[in-house]
Amino acid sequence: MELESSFPSPILLDNCVYSLGEGTLIPFWNVVWLNVGRLSDLFPVLFLNSSAKDGTVFSMGKWTGTRWEWGSFGLDASDVILMQDISDLRNLIANITPNSSVRDSLEWGKGEDSGYTTKSGYINLCSMQEIPTVVDNVRNSLSVNWKALVPFRIKAFGWRCLIDRLPLKIPLIRRGVSVEPCCVLCCGGDEDASHLFLYCSFSKQIWREISSWLGITVTLEGPVQEGLLSWVRECRKEGVGKNSASGIWLTIVWCIWRHRNDIVFNGASPILTDLVWYIKLKLWKWLSVGNISLTKCNFYDFCKNPVGNLG
Ligand SMILES: [Zn+2]
Repeated sequence: MELESSFPSPILLDNCVYSLGEGTLIPFWNVVWLNVGRLSDLFPVLFLNSSAKDGTVFSMGKWTGTRWEWGSFGLDASDVILMQDISDLRNLIANITPNSSVRDSLEWGKGEDSGYTTKSGYINLCSMQEIPTVVDNVRNSLSVNWKALVPFRIKAFGWRCLIDRLPLKIPLIRRGVSVEPCCVLCCGGDEDASHLFLYCSFSKQIWREISSWLGITVTLEGPVQEGLLSWVRECRKEGVGKNSASGIWLTIVWCIWRHRNDIVFNGASPILTDLVWYIKLKLWKWLSVGNISLTKCNFYDFCKNPVGNLG
């Protein structure tokens, strides 16, 4: 289908793929024109800060002779908070160039060679009945992530974890990288986000230690997004605020990730007690920012009564 100035109904767009031509009709941020998804979902902080939210792909760069150069995406490149994401975005699209001799187009069926029919449209709409649960969990977990009481870089890590963009072994193998799939913490399972952060026998012990310290009963189930949401629900039952609860979850997951990297890159060994103390120390430090009662509490008192001091 050739793209003119109007677009198909949004409800049908989910089953369409944009094919980049000259780029003048494809919105840069808000539709899927790369096989990794919408750029507004992958880089929400950049999208929120961009002064060119409605810009087309073509408007985000310029031709210099025969060479295409990406521009600033409506962003302030000197903003230190945005620098890393801008660099990631530039790397992601570095080899993509509009083709000025081809018009932008839209294909139905995600690359299937079938074309649009009333029947395929109807089947697509029916299949969407099952989508909201998955989509809602991802969207809700991302919203909870950005409000957590942890430093921005930990929220940025959480975002990558929740959209499955961490360089874990199973996702790397799917991309054709040759690595051993086994988890370095337990050597008993394949390393994807759910295993490493929730179901690994080593990580399970961490969750058990921290939840028992907090007086919270937690059931580990589902993927990481559901893990975050159910953790926040359980914490709130015990009187822990939503943003503190999500801050605790992100701190635990980030500390497991850091410990895993220490093993992979520095030859360290998995040591449960050290990691539990490290998590408690980080929680005391990070959650006290914006929590007046915790700023008055020393680390010893926090360890004795964490939930009482979280307020
Ligand atoms: Zn494991």
